[in-house]
Amino acid sequence: MIGGAIALELASAGLNVGLFDRQEPGREASWASAGILSPAPESPAMLPLVPLGKASMALYPAFIQTVEELSGSSTGFRPKGTLQAIVSRSAREELNTIVALHHGLGLPAEPISGPEARELEPALAAEVEAAVLRPAEASVDNRALIQSILQSAQRSGVKLISGTPIDAIWREGTRCLGLISGAEKFASQFTVIATGSFSAGISGASIYAPVRPAKGQMLSLRCEGVPIERVLWSENIYLVPRNDGRILAGATVEYLGFEKTVTLGGISKLSAAATELVPALKDARIEETWAGLRPDSPDHLPILGPVDVEGLLFATGHFRSGVLLTPITAKLVREWITEKNTTLDCRRFSPLRFQAIASAHAGASASSD
Ligand SMILES: Cc1cc2nc3c(=O)[nH]c(=O)nc-3n(C[C@H](O)[C@H](O)[C@H](O)COP(=O)(O)OP(=O)(O)OC[C@H]3O[C@@H](n4cnc5c(N)ncnc54)[C@H](O)[C@@H]3O)c2cc1C
Repeated sequence: MIGGAIALELASAGLNVGLFDRQEPGREASWASAGILSPAPESPAMLPLVPLGKASMALYPAFIQTVEELSGSSTGFRPKGTLQAIVSRSAREELNTIVALHHGLGLPAEPISGPEARELEPALAAEVEAAVLRPAEASVDNRALIQSILQSAQRSGVKLISGTPIDAIWREGTRCLGLISGAEKFASQFTVIATGSFSAGISGASIYAPVRPAKGQMLSLRCEGVPIERVLWSENIYLVPRNDGRILAGATVEYLGFEKTVTLGGISKLSAAATELVPALKDARIEETWAGLRPDSPDHLPILGPVDVEGLLFATGHFRSGVLLTPITAKLVREWITEKNTTLDCRRFSPLRFQAIASAHAGASASSD
């Protein structure tokens, strides 16, 4: 998704763009995602991401309009807000803390009681004591969005080169000349690596993008007569309604390498948490199960921008927020390439930060020897 959106943005700015993928594009993390658009931080480690998430959220309506118009297909965008349910006995204190945190970050959040939450979402469990309504959040059908982005990109002149695995960055001294696939070299003035969880596998990329996969298992449910309007969260699960009546439930977070097995343990955990939040889902039909690999970086933050090799940029490591961050990532990469500057301060996300950590470690061990 990230690569496709960058390609579209660059082609729209008048550049000649080729989009390489080793398989049919859009079949990895972006396909497996839940498509929730929430700039709220999931943990203190994710706080530096909030300004980027907010900026991307602000771009979303226009981004959706552009790709829907260019592609002629719907993306299932649902700007209906999300609702975070609180079950604990100390619900009132928890509610105040969450709402204060959101307001401190400039994120809209309204505290509501359990009965008010059930008025909005009648399927919620009676045990829900309170809730936080986040009216500015949304969701999108990520699989539909990818197809819209790819069609829009191609209609804007992007050449799609699928079935072409990239093995290495083509580098001469401090200049990137393009990409290498098998015996073939593809020359380009600018090269952007946006290969998600697989970025570290491209020769020459791992020092900038030490990304590792974080597996997430998901399931898709159908249950007639269970109305869910907004994305619902609890501590253990999120439930995401789609326009066609499906309800997605997710997701596990597992560090097991590149395997994508769906396990009984994973699905049992999700099923138990889903029925705890919405008891009527016990009668739901499981329509599909799947797993995907989130591209996680050592500090869980995305890896964005140019490096110390001229003409080479990275846009990877989007971990749990890549769908949310797609429009802003595309915009930033375009700004780096066409304007040599960005409207947002992105130093925190520089791909050079891992080299600094590596050389600090090397220095520390050299001085202690
Ligand atoms: C279960 C799950 C739930 C998620 N939920 C959300 C959510 O609700 N909201 C949200 O914002 N984010 C969510 N995410 C995260 C989000 O999906 C990712 O951050 C995002 O999709 C990353 O996009 P990407 O384009 O970088 O990677 P990918 O979608 O993985 O794409 C990488 C592409 O690179 C190609 N590729 C890889 N190696 C090579 C190579 N050597 N040569 C050529 N091509 C190559 C692949 O074929 C693929 O097409 C979720 C992820 C998972 C797994």
